[in-house]
Amino acid sequence: MANKILYYSTNLGSEKVSFREALIRGQAPDRGLYMPEIIPVLSQDQLYSFTDKSYPEIAETILKLFINDDIPADSLHSLVVDAYNFEVPLENVYNRNYIMRLDRGPTASFKDFAARMMGRLMQYFLKQENRKMLILTATSGDTGSAIANAFYDLDNIEVVILFPIDEVTDRQRKQMTTLNKNITVLAIDGKFDDCQALVKKAFADSELSHLPLSSANSINIGRLIPQSIYYFWAWAQLANHHDDRIIFSVPSGNFGNLMGGLIAKHMGLPVERFVVSTNENDEVPVYFEKGIYQPVVPSRNCISSAMNVGHPSNMARIIALYGGVMDEKGNITKQPDIERLKADLWPVSINDNQTRQTIKQAYQQYQLLLEPHGAVAWAGLHRFFEAHPEKNFPYQLCVVLETAHPAKFPQEIEQILGIQPDLPESLANLDEQKEYMISMSNRYDDFKTYLLNR
Ligand SMILES: *Cc1c(COP(=O)(O)O)cnc(C)c1O
Repeated sequence: MANKILYYSTNLGSEKVSFREALIRGQAPDRGLYMPEIIPVLSQDQLYSFTDKSYPEIAETILKLFINDDIPADSLHSLVVDAYNFEVPLENVYNRNYIMRLDRGPTASFKDFAARMMGRLMQYFLKQENRKMLILTATSGDTGSAIANAFYDLDNIEVVILFPIDEVTDRQRKQMTTLNKNITVLAIDGKFDDCQALVKKAFADSELSHLPLSSANSINIGRLIPQSIYYFWAWAQLANHHDDRIIFSVPSGNFGNLMGGLIAKHMGLPVERFVVSTNENDEVPVYFEKGIYQPVVPSRNCISSAMNVGHPSNMARIIALYGGVMDEKGNITKQPDIERLKADLWPVSINDNQTRQTIKQAYQQYQLLLEPHGAVAWAGLHRFFEAHPEKNFPYQLCVVLETAHPAKFPQEIEQILGIQPDLPESLANLDEQKEYMISMSNRYDDFKTYLLNR
């Protein structure tokens, strides 16, 4: 483990780079995604030593292996403690079936785990090099608030968020506009597509090339590695012995969450199987069944809206981890080891009716309150047990990941259960706070003038 881990591009057409370089670049020059060349393996004793560690302590141990000596230990320690200042509860439902609530961060979505760590890692490197970064991002709601909150009050990083004035809910808007400081929010008189087009044009505009523009892209390696930590955490909290094998059910859209879990498994975590729970965007379940990968175009609209993805960006990484090659469009030029993939992953598609039914049943049977994404995962686990009754015994340890707080879906929950979920603290105080935003037309000239005069 003394060797320094380098990061290669899944398209195999770019040079290998350090963690720092991969983090700052985001995407590789050949449009591939960065992957660690070696996945370090932990001994059983090391894994079991996590049972009496805190979440930040586990995070520090794992991250250190991937960052090598790009960040000294004491600095990494403070970044991790600062990023993970919230609870990661595991709720028992029945037997050894648990829900891991990944919704206690500032925006009540599991994206906080990745975005907060990435922001702090970037800040560290920028400060060291005395550089600044201006992040531009267009949002239709949730991504913008996760990025805004993750980068809020960080040094050397400014964030400009564009949102369509009439297309986000009051709560979504307030999650962005009540921050201020280094976060600027532009309310665009237009649609989400207009916002995206403005950002794209700015990135391509040579007259803006003197600005340190960057996008806080979801495919960044700095978002991926942090998403392996809570798998170790769950097992460490719940395992009865060294080889207590665990089943995870992961609600999946772009498969970044799942990819984090796969890294944990390849590092030695005793995972029996990942149930890969998708909504009606079933390109991956179909690929496993038929051996042919075909993106779903256009993607299907389901109530688990953060998973409406017809071609998951992390598929290329999963294929790479199993010895294959997939380009950014989804063409597989070298087949992965499909038997090994099938031994580790069990993909399933859950439709909206089944999702609503699951929310109802889980609440009636166990007083378990799920939102649509977690419900897809809960349903997926039970479909797995129907297909594999031999795995369904009372001592089997299972963890279903709940990726958002039910209060983020008040209409859906109200319709299905007739109740209003309580707001978590992070969302409850928004109404009393002052909002900061700048109204702007959807014309590029206005946006450009704004950027030049900031
Ligand atoms: C983004 C998101 C997902 C999907 O995660 P991926 O890493 O894209 O698979 C699931 N649930 C919620 C609430 C999300 O925001």
